[in-house]
Amino acid sequence: MNWSVAIHGGAGAIPETLSAERREACLAALDGTLRSGVQQLSAGASAIDVVEDLVAMLEDEPSFNAGHGAVYTREGTHELEAAIMDGDAGSCGAVTQIMTIRNPIRLARQVMDRSPHVMLCGEGAESFGADIGVEQVDNTYFDTQLRRAELDRALSDPTLAVQEGSTVGAVAMDMQGRCASATSTGGMTGKWCGRIGDSPLIGSGTYADTSCAISCTGHGEAFIRHVVAHEISAMHRHGGVPIDEAAHAVLGKMEDGAGGVILVDASGAHAVINAKGMYRGLAESGGRFETAIWNDQMAEL
Ligand code: ASP
Repeated sequence: MNWSVAIHGGAGAIPETLSAERREACLAALDGTLRSGVQQLSAGASAIDVVEDLVAMLEDEPSFNAGHGAVYTREGTHELEAAIMDGDAGSCGAVTQIMTIRNPIRLARQVMDRSPHVMLCGEGAESFGADIGVEQVDNTYFDTQLRRAELDRALSDPTLAVQEGSTVGAVAMDMQGRCASATSTGGMTGKWCGRIGDSPLIGSGTYADTSCAISCTGHGEAFIRHVVAHEISAMHRHGGVPIDEAAHAVLGKMEDGAGGVILVDASGAHAVINAKGMYRGLAESGGRFETAIWNDQMAEL
C-alpha cells in the first residue's frame, strides 16, 4: 500500500539573504524529520502517530517557531498552541495559551485521546498536562536569540514586524489510507497576550478527514477568516476538485504573502504556497523525497 507525508517549518517572507548557516540548519532539520516520517510510515506506523512525532521533533528544533524557538508575545513571553486531527476517526485535540509544556503537540494528542473535549487553553490545559505527566518546562526554555531580535525589531518599528514564518506542521497518509494532520506554533511575533491564531483551530489551520489532511502556515487571522483547511477539504470532498487545485483556489483568494499549506491525499503529497517561501519537505512511498525553502524550488502558486 502507498503512503505519503509532508512537513512544513512555516511560510512567509523568507529573505533570499537568509544566512547559509540558518538555511543549512533548517534544511537539515527538515531532512532528519522527513527521514523519520519515511521510516515510520514504511514500517507501517499510523498516520496519527507519525504526524504527532514529526511535529514534536520540529518543536524541539530551535530554528522553528514552535516549542523551543517559539516567537515572543509583545510582553516578552511565549504562548504556544497546537492541534492534531485523526481524519479516519474524525477525532481531534487542540491546546492554546500554553506557557510551560515542552511539546504542545503531545498535549493536544492527549486532549484528543484522554479528555472529553476538543480544545483546552491556558492554566486548565497545563494542569491537565501536569496530571497526566506531560513534560513541563519553564517559559524561558522557549527563548532564542533569533526570536528575541525579531521581537526587538518589531517593537522598535512595527513596519519591520515581517515574520518569515516557521510554524511547524505535518500531514500523512499511512499504508491503510488513513490521513492525519498536526500543527504547532508560537504564533506571530509581538502578538497580544491571549491572541489565538489559526494553527490550533480545527478547520482553519489544521484539518483531516477520511480522504485528505491539511496543515497551514501564514498570517493566522487571514487563515481563520477563510477557514482555509476545511474549505480546501470541502472543495475536494463535495466538488471532486483535486486537492492541490483546491488549495490553489483557496490561497489564490487571499492576499499575496498570506502563507502556505501542505496536503496529502490518495494522489500523494503537495505543497501550495502564496508567499515568498515555505520551509518544507515531501516524501512518498514511490521514492520521492524533497526538501525546499523558496517557492520556485518545488511548488508554486
Ligand atoms: N499561522 C501562525 C499564526 O498565525 C503563524 C505562522 O504560521 O507563521 O499563529
